[in-house]
Amino acid sequence: MKDKYGREIEYMRISIMDRCNLRCQYCMPEGISLVPMEHILTFEEIELVCQAAAELGICKLKITGGEPLVRLGCPELIGRLKRFQELSR
Ligand code: SF4
Repeated sequence: MKDKYGREIEYMRISIMDRCNLRCQYCMPEGISLVPMEHILTFEEIELVCQAAAELGICKLKITGGEPLVRLGCPELIGRLKRFQELSR
């Protein structure tokens, strides 16, 4: 996949959680509203997005947040997403 300038896109960041315990001012200022958990992508939805991205040539995923480790099951999700690196090669 290429961007409009013809550069190859091989990398995607995906945020799996908007919460974090540290609450740095620039990221989580006072009064910021958090997304209700029912509006956050499920692991199955994240896998679907990553599968589609891998088919388009994305071979690197960066899992971000907030703090991704705050999300229950994060290590298992990362284990499940590793297979997409193999798919895109
Ligand atoms: S996600 Fe990063 S920047 Fe945001 S509050 Fe947490 S540590 Fe700070």
